[in-house]
Amino acid sequence: MARVVVVGAGLGGLAAAARLGALGHRVTVLEQAAEIGGKLGRAELDGHVFDTGPSLVTLPQIQRDLFAATGAPLEAALDLVRLDPAVAYRFADGTRLSMPGTPDAVPTALDAALRDGAGAQWAALMARAERMWAVSERPFLRSPLAGAGTLARLARRPADVATVAPWRSLRGLGESYLRHPHLRTLLDRYATYSGSDPRRAPAVLATVPYAEQAFGSWYVRGGLRRLATAVAERAAAHGAELRTGCAVRRVLVDGGRASGVELADGEVVPADVVVSGVDAEALYADLLPAGGEADRARRNLARATPSLSGFVLLLGLRGRTPGLAHHTVLFPADYDAEFDAVFGTGRDEGRPRPVPDPTVYISAPDDPELRPDEDSESWFVLVNAPRHDPVRGVDWDEPGLAERYAETVLRVMAGRGLDVRDRIRVRAVRTPADLERDTGSVGGSIYGTSSNGARAAFLRPANASPVPGLFLVGGSAHPGGGLPLVTLSAEIVSGLVSST
Ligand SMILES: Cc1cc2nc3c(=O)[nH]c(=O)nc-3n(C[C@H](O)[C@H](O)[C@H](O)COP(=O)(O)OP(=O)(O)OC[C@H]3O[C@@H](n4cnc5c(N)ncnc54)[C@H](O)[C@@H]3O)c2cc1C
Repeated sequence: MARVVVVGAGLGGLAAAARLGALGHRVTVLEQAAEIGGKLGRAELDGHVFDTGPSLVTLPQIQRDLFAATGAPLEAALDLVRLDPAVAYRFADGTRLSMPGTPDAVPTALDAALRDGAGAQWAALMARAERMWAVSERPFLRSPLAGAGTLARLARRPADVATVAPWRSLRGLGESYLRHPHLRTLLDRYATYSGSDPRRAPAVLATVPYAEQAFGSWYVRGGLRRLATAVAERAAAHGAELRTGCAVRRVLVDGGRASGVELADGEVVPADVVVSGVDAEALYADLLPAGGEADRARRNLARATPSLSGFVLLLGLRGRTPGLAHHTVLFPADYDAEFDAVFGTGRDEGRPRPVPDPTVYISAPDDPELRPDEDSESWFVLVNAPRHDPVRGVDWDEPGLAERYAETVLRVMAGRGLDVRDRIRVRAVRTPADLERDTGSVGGSIYGTSSNGARAAFLRPANASPVPGLFLVGGSAHPGGGLPLVTLSAEIVSGLVSST
């Protein structure tokens, strides 16, 4: 059995540690921060408790697989709750749509809120997305990236290629199935689940709303952060050693093979296998020596567009909001202007900027564990934001910017019917620069590289690095970001380690 060092205790690193530990490997996890969890973070302000990262669990079967493979079932460790309604949407023209949490109820709800055959249009799109899911789940999401081999596997069946339509954008697919403009807006939003622009992201991302509706939107009672704790406990139960406050400075390569890591204080931790859960861009730029096999991975990364980041407001509020859903989305009148601002495209080509009139996402779990008393609420508010890039984009550390932008977001919310400015008891702001500092993700990109462009998925760093004995897990590697895919990447990596 191998000595394995896992770098980074985000969900990807922790899930890999749990799986590899369960297989009998001797695992050490090294985390730079004082706490485990990475983006799956938690904050507490005067009795208000917040998840600072993910607020939605999709594809719960992937978490169930992880727990089943490492011990007792997920239900023994976590209380997962299916949300219904899944999301309350408010559009700029005042239309409201409460999206049911079960797929059968969706068309009727769409017809009631939007009319004009909206239910049938969406059902037709979801039928296509279901076929896309059947074609792509196993060969792509659940398998190691095999470069041209993955494409070749797909290309062997022309009908599958036609279903996935790799040449088509998500926006293009929406335009061919959806006449109702609000449905197009809804579909566009799913590009942001991988940090992408719907005008450039591939049509196959229609599988995201399909999977969300088919398998449900879920919450972890007590906060999603509990998922990280539970997986860490699973890893520890299999003998993994979890060390926090240990920044890895270098991956050591000896005779062309990964041989361990060196910490910032000079300590060397030898290993037969290194699993990196840190941002792939940071791994290739900072932790590995220049030159050699890793250069190709660096070139691919340089050709990809980084995913977007997020600007987060944590609001501890006095009083309760009648009728508030667990998740609320407030759309702007001009969605394209948001993507132009975030990615520096459109009229002001070349310079990303904070979105003046952003889509606002509010997660307000009705969970007594997250509030100091029954007459208060803890809101996580997220808007899409350009990554932190002081040279070519936005310098989120510019004095005053974060506070000014927080006021903008609060004003936008007020303009769309949720004015909470006189109810704020405590508030905190987290910018893309904070995300970069806290988790080491370059520029605070949430999902590593984006899915912008037809070949983006294949430019994503593979789980087996070019350096034998070094593997990549987590949201910046294949198959992508978000809790389910990150957890799948750990399954892929544990398979790869076992077969070497
Ligand atoms: C605001 C926000 C909202 C989100 N919402 C959702 C959602 O609703 N649903 C969903 O599924 N996903 C969501 N995501 C995405 C999801 O959080 C991530 O895809 C996932 O948590 C990433 O896990 P990871 O293990 O790949 O990386 P990370 O969580 O970033 O973990 C990487 C770890 O490596 C550590 N590290 C970095 N460098 C070093 C080093 N040199 N030495 C040692 N340790 C190091 C970091 O400190 C960190 O702990 C959201 C993310 C954010 C930020």
